[in-house]
Amino acid sequence: MSIQPRAPQPEGLNLEFYEHAASGTLHIQQCSDCGHFRHPPRYFCPVCFSSHYRWTPSEGRGTLFSWTVTHFPYDRGWAEGLPYATLVVELDEGVRLIGADGTQDIAVLSPGLRMVGQLTQDSYGFPFLTFVEHP
Ligand SMILES: [Zn+2]
Repeated sequence: MSIQPRAPQPEGLNLEFYEHAASGTLHIQQCSDCGHFRHPPRYFCPVCFSSHYRWTPSEGRGTLFSWTVTHFPYDRGWAEGLPYATLVVELDEGVRLIGADGTQDIAVLSPGLRMVGQLTQDSYGFPFLTFVEHP
């Protein structure tokens, strides 16, 4: 019997982010006054301090900024996939998102690698973000 990984329990502005992700399309918080994209979601724009924002659809394209490889499972539900990489990808909108590695080969990871995010739902219905290579 395999152990199911625990799903995150987002709240506040993070909940808004994941509710949009559950629709199947990545959305990034954007200031309604100056247009600045920001992530993680915040109540005020760091550029103009406006509290007005919208959720703008994103194609999820960007470049690999950094990554870490996990060899020990802090949650036993993820043990079957070890070792696995967790990626930080800088989207073309200028924000950095964390997601799973969908390349199937940690050796291909290199800074600047073009990637695109894909949303999939686990058995709990939680939307997980996975990045794959995209030329
Ligand atoms: Zn702003």
